Amino acid sequence: MGNNIIYYDRFSSDPFEGWQPTDDTKGAAEVLQWAYESYGESIVYACSFGAEGIVLIDLISKVKKDAEIVFLDTDVHFQETYELIDKVKKRYPELNIHLKKPDLTLDEQSSQYGSALWKRQPNQCCYIRKIKPLEDALSGATAWISGLRREQSPSRSHTNFVNKDERFESIKVCPLIYWTWDDVWDYIRLNDLDYNVLHDQGYPSIGCMPCTSAVNEQDDDRSGRWKGSTKTECGLHTSGN
Ligand code: SF4
Repeated sequence: MGNNIIYYDRFSSDPFEGWQPTDDTKGAAEVLQWAYESYGESIVYACSFGAEGIVLIDLISKVKKDAEIVFLDTDVHFQETYELIDKVKKRYPELNIHLKKPDLTLDEQSSQYGSALWKRQPNQCCYIRKIKPLEDALSGATAWISGLRREQSPSRSHTNFVNKDERFESIKVCPLIYWTWDDVWDYIRLNDLDYNVLHDQGYPSIGCMPCTSAVNEQDDDRSGRWKGSTKTECGLHTSGN
């Protein structure tokens, strides 16, 4: 893309369509450069602090040192995830990392909907604890960044660098679409990045504690999420991009 910054409004086409990245980040660095030059202060990275998240934070810190980063703090994440966030805050003190809480505390949710809502109505639970908070976090932003990769699942295989996001009436920028799982870990090791220690204990994909299980080596990376149910996504990426 060079220095030709094309402003993408939500009704025009993907500015990266047909573009083949050649740099050693498979386009991620250039797409991030473009995104921050195009959207300025009006772009938010919604980070889950998984392996992809750690890579993106490092790449983003090189483009915009004080970038806005939001973590959807459902109150039921693993302790190891919170410990990782503390380490990342120390490593990148200029980044604005916010923990966004749901409107309802866990006790208030239990009073209104009954206890362990994730067991009975996980979609409702995800709406309260993830989707509504992200809607609120994006209300003042034009675009958001996500760490989706095409190889993660069939529903993500058509994700583009820049996507119209009907669900959040926004624009979703996905710099890592061409990265493989090995690329992610090569980058983490090469740059000696902190990562969630649960990745070394059989958890390739880490979400909320009640809905995340360890997986066997031969299983799909996301098979530990909502194990035993038909649910595969929390609803943040329902359109598959
Ligand atoms: Fe609730 Fe599970 Fe969704 Fe987390 S992943 S918000 S605990 S249903």
